[in-house]
Amino acid sequence: MMSVKLATAMNTTAGCTISTALIEAAKRLHSTGDAPHLEAQILLSHAMSKPRAWLLAHGRETLDADCAKHFDHLLEERLCGLPIAYLIGSREFWSRNFHVAPAVLIPRPETEHLIEAALEIFGDDGAHRIADLGTGSGIIAITLGLERPCSHILATDISADALAIAQGNAQRLGASNVEFRHTDWLSGFGNESFDLIISNPPYIAEDDRHLHEGDVRFEPRHALVAEENGLCALRTIIMQARQHLRVGGWLMLEHGYDQAAAITNLLREYGYCAIESRADFAGHMRLTMGRQDS
Ligand code: GLN
Repeated sequence: MMSVKLATAMNTTAGCTISTALIEAAKRLHSTGDAPHLEAQILLSHAMSKPRAWLLAHGRETLDADCAKHFDHLLEERLCGLPIAYLIGSREFWSRNFHVAPAVLIPRPETEHLIEAALEIFGDDGAHRIADLGTGSGIIAITLGLERPCSHILATDISADALAIAQGNAQRLGASNVEFRHTDWLSGFGNESFDLIISNPPYIAEDDRHLHEGDVRFEPRHALVAEENGLCALRTIIMQARQHLRVGGWLMLEHGYDQAAAITNLLREYGYCAIESRADFAGHMRLTMGRQDS
């Protein structure tokens, strides 16, 4: 008991049992988020390389010195605000684990709506050609590649570091039908054309106060922020995609909760048809698509 008290006072979990370490860590993590117990388990599970369920079944065992040191370090970093996904180096998306690092945006559950909508368009697994612009960790391109193995996916990014991470993810997950290209949106695409162009581009306005809160403080700014009140990248893609969609091909875009009307207008302005927005689980219109009919 003495050693546990001492350990807590010194903010170290050395000498603690697993369950004490989890309880003490959760107390400290209260300030960082609304799931302190879960966060404590995720970090300890990473430090010990054991599943969360194992920790709960072995609560009475004492943490060894190396694990305690690793866990204490992760806790300190988390208390400074570093995102859990960067600390453990991964995030789940569409039930698969993707490697992530500070060079890429952390996958968001909202982006799964984009996948849903894309899979709906291609009910069958034909030989479709798809482009994912600004692929980041590669979640969109790789998920579509794995779900539609007969399709070919071209994934682009302006960041070479992001592309390296996406390529590693494609290899690990076995998505051999995804090709990667280092470029700015659709520039240098020549006369290539696609059945679907899809993107979750940066769309946050430069002065948005959310940029100073939570995980986004640590994410790459160029993956989050766009000029013209957040619309610059979206407008560029809408404009460029017109030259690279087959007749009947779709452009599908994720955007901010208050941008659906602006995106609908831009799609109309550039001559897209069958324009439709869809809501996320919170009821916000977060994705808009349009078809090229001529
Ligand atoms: N396509 C990636 C994602 O959805 C990266 C997006 C981005 O960097 N803006 O997470």
